[in-house]
Amino acid sequence: MLDITHTAFPHLSDEQMQCVASLATLQHLADGDILFPESTRDFPFYVVRDGAVEISESSSGTRKLVTTHQSGAFVGDVDMLTDRPALVCATARGATAVYTIPRASFRRILVEVPELSEMLLEAFQARRKILEAKGFSGVRLIGTPGAANTQRMREFFYKNHVPHSLIDANSEDGARLLEENGSNADELPVLLCNGHVARNPNIIQVASCLGISREIDETVYDLVIVGAGPAGLSAAVYGASEGLRILVVDKIGPGGQAGSSSKIENLMGFPTGINGAELANRGYLQALKFGAQFTAPVAVRSISSESEGKLLLNLCTGQTAHARSVLIATGVTYRQLDLENGRQFEGSGIYYSATAIEAAVCRQSTAVVVGGGNSAGQAAMFLADHAAQVKLVLRSGDLCKSMSQYLCTRIENHPKIEVLYHASVTTVTGEQTLKRITLINNEGGTTNELDCAALFIFIGARPHTDWLPDSVRLDDKGFVKTGSMLEQDRLWTLDRPPCDLETSLPGVMAAGDVRAGTTKRCGFAVGEGSLAISCVHRFLSRL
Ligand SMILES: Cc1cc2nc3c(=O)[nH]c(=O)nc-3n(C[C@H](O)[C@H](O)[C@H](O)COP(=O)(O)OP(=O)(O)OC[C@H]3O[C@@H](n4cnc5c(N)ncnc54)[C@H](O)[C@@H]3O)c2cc1C
Repeated sequence: MLDITHTAFPHLSDEQMQCVASLATLQHLADGDILFPESTRDFPFYVVRDGAVEISESSSGTRKLVTTHQSGAFVGDVDMLTDRPALVCATARGATAVYTIPRASFRRILVEVPELSEMLLEAFQARRKILEAKGFSGVRLIGTPGAANTQRMREFFYKNHVPHSLIDANSEDGARLLEENGSNADELPVLLCNGHVARNPNIIQVASCLGISREIDETVYDLVIVGAGPAGLSAAVYGASEGLRILVVDKIGPGGQAGSSSKIENLMGFPTGINGAELANRGYLQALKFGAQFTAPVAVRSISSESEGKLLLNLCTGQTAHARSVLIATGVTYRQLDLENGRQFEGSGIYYSATAIEAAVCRQSTAVVVGGGNSAGQAAMFLADHAAQVKLVLRSGDLCKSMSQYLCTRIENHPKIEVLYHASVTTVTGEQTLKRITLINNEGGTTNELDCAALFIFIGARPHTDWLPDSVRLDDKGFVKTGSMLEQDRLWTLDRPPCDLETSLPGVMAAGDVRAGTTKRCGFAVGEGSLAISCVHRFLSRL
C-alpha cells in the first residue's frame, strides 16, 4: 500500500502549479465550505494552493475521512473521466484557496500536457484502489450469493467498475437491512443506492439509479462503435486519439469476453500476463482520455441508412444515434450445453466466464469446467486457485488437440485438476443453486454423479449478429463477411472494392470475434480494432 499511496497522492511541482494556474480561476474558501458533496456530477478539477481540502465518504452510513489534500495536491478520481457522480465529499479545512479548472479544460490538460496527464491518471486509479481497500462499501446489494439475478447485477457492477458490497439476504445484517428498507425476500435482489431502494431492478434501472445512464444528443458522430470488448476499445483509443468524434455503445459495459478472463498470457507487452478486466479498464480510461464517449448498459437494436449517407442506430432505450460510419464489434457468446434442468441454474451454478465473482461460488467445493479450448484451460487453471478441486470434462481423448501446448502441459501436471476424457455432462440438480451434476462416459455409457457448486461451460461461440439488417452479409454460421469475402456479392454495388474490414453495407465495418474467418483471440481483436480506424478514415475521406 506504501507505493500506491505515493502514486495516489503526489504533489505538483512549481512548474506544474504554474501550468495549472494559467488555465484556472482562483477560488477562496472558508473552513467547512463544501467544494462538492457526494453524488455531484461534473465537479471541476481542484488544485489546493493554500489551506487544505478534506475528502470523506459515508457509504457505510457513518462519515469517514478518506484523506486530506494539502497545498500542491489535487482533488479527483476516475469519475473525472467517466463523468459519473462523485463517490466522496470535498470540504475546505481552514482558510483555503484552490485553483479551479472546468471539465473541458481539464480534458485538454489530459491530452495536451503528457507529464501531468500521466501523473493524474495513475493517481486516479490508485485512489480508487485505496478507497476500496479502506472499506468503502459503495452501493449495497442485498441478495442470495450465487443466485442468477444477483450474479447478473454483480457482473454489471464489475464491468462498469461500480464499487459495491453484497450482503447475504439470509444473514442477520441482510434480514435487518431488508426490514429497514421495507422489502422482503420475494423482491431480491434489493439495491440501496444514493438514498433509493430498487427492488429486483433490471440493469437499465440500476444504471439510472447509479446516475450512470446518459442522454445521447443529436450529434452526428464520425464513428459509432457497437461493443466495448477489446476490438471496440482498441478502435475507440486509436480513433479518438486521431481526432474522430466517437460514441461507444455496449449492452453491459466495457470489457467484453476479455473482461471475463482471469489472466491473458498471450498478449504482447505483458510477459507475466494481465487480468482481462484490468486490460479493459486501461483501454477504457485511455479512450476516455482522448475524448471518446461511452454509454452502457445499452444494446443496439438495428442500423439503417439515413439521407445524405448517414447511418441511424436504434438503441434499446428508445434513443437513437446518428453516425457517418459504424464499427460492429459485438463479439460472440459461448454456446450453451443441452442439459436437463439447465435453464434453472443459468447464472446460479452454470457460468460462461470464470472471474473472481464466479470463483467465490465454488470456494471449498468442486468446480467443473467443460470444453477443450484455451478458454476452458485458462478457466480450469484460474479456478484451481480457488476451488477445492477442478474437473475438466472433455468429449475427446486428447487434451492438446485444440488447446495451446503450454496450457495443456500445465493442466496435465496440476495437482488440483483432473481431466475426465470421453465424458459429457447430462443433468444438473440442486435447489436455489447448483448442487450436483451427472456425467456420462461416452465410450462405456456409464454414468456417475458428482457434487459440484459451479459448472463452467466453454464449448464454442455464437456471434452477436441477430440485430443486423439483411444488407450486412453474414456467413452460414452468422459471422459478418468483410472485404474480399464480398467479391462477386450482389449486395456490394459500389465501383470500388470494400476496405478489408468493410461489410456489404458501405461505411459499416466489422472487427474482432464477430467477423468471419478471424482467430478468436484478444490480440487479434485489438489489432483489428485499430485496422478498422484506417478503413473509417478512408471511407470518411470519400464522403
Ligand atoms: C473466459 C475467457 C478467457 C479468454 N482468454 C483469452 C486469452 O487468454 N487470450 C486470448 O487471446 N483470448 C482470450 N479469450 C478470447 C478473447 O477474450 C476474445 O477473442 C476477445 O474478447 C474478442 O474481442 P471482441 O471485442 O471481438 O468481442 P467481445 O470481447 O466478445 O466483446 C463484444 C462486446 O459487444 C457487446 N455487445 C454485443 N452485442 C451488442 C449490441 N447489440 N449492442 C451493444 N453491445 C453489444 C458485448 O456486451 C461485449 O462487451 C478469452 C475469452 C473468454 C470468454
